[in-house]
Amino acid sequence: MLTRSELPENPVVLAVRDPDGCLHTITTERVRGGKIRMICTCDANRASGWCEHAIQLLCTRYDSVVDPSDDLEFRFEDVVMGTPLADMADEVDVALADFHAALRDMDAKRPSGLDRDQLRRIAELATDLADTASHLDATLTRFKKKLAAGLGS
Ligand SMILES: [Zn+2]
Repeated sequence: MLTRSELPENPVVLAVRDPDGCLHTITTERVRGGKIRMICTCDANRASGWCEHAIQLLCTRYDSVVDPSDDLEFRFEDVVMGTPLADMADEVDVALADFHAALRDMDAKRPSGLDRDQLRRIAELATDLADTASHLDATLTRFKKKLAAGLGS
C-alpha cells in the first residue's frame, strides 16, 4: 500500500499571471520513473520546452500565481519536492540571475568611446556576458534532461 506522500495527487494545475497581465496555465505531473512533466501554455515553453514560470514555481516562488492557496501549493510541492528536477531548478535560477545581471551591466556600463581603457572594459563586460550565457545554456541542458517529455513527444 502506498501512503499519501508516496502517491502525489496528479496532475496539479496552477495559473500564473505575467506583469503585463498575460495568463498562463502550468500543468505539473509526476510520471513513471519519478520524472516530472511541466507543461506551460506560454510561448517560451512551447518553443523551448521550459520557461521561467516553471523555474519560479520549482523554486517555491508563488508571487505570480492567480488565486494562490496553501492547498494548491502543498499539492504542487508534494509532486515536485525532492526530485532531481527541483534541485536543478535552483541551479537554473542562479544561472538566470547571473545572466540577467551581466546583460544589465552590458547595457548600463558599456563605455561609448574607443580608447584603450574603454575597449578593455567592453571586452570584460562581453566576457562576463559570454560566460554567463554559456553557463546558463549548459545548466538548462541538464535541467531539460530531468524533465519528462511533453505530451505526444
Ligand atoms: Zn511559461
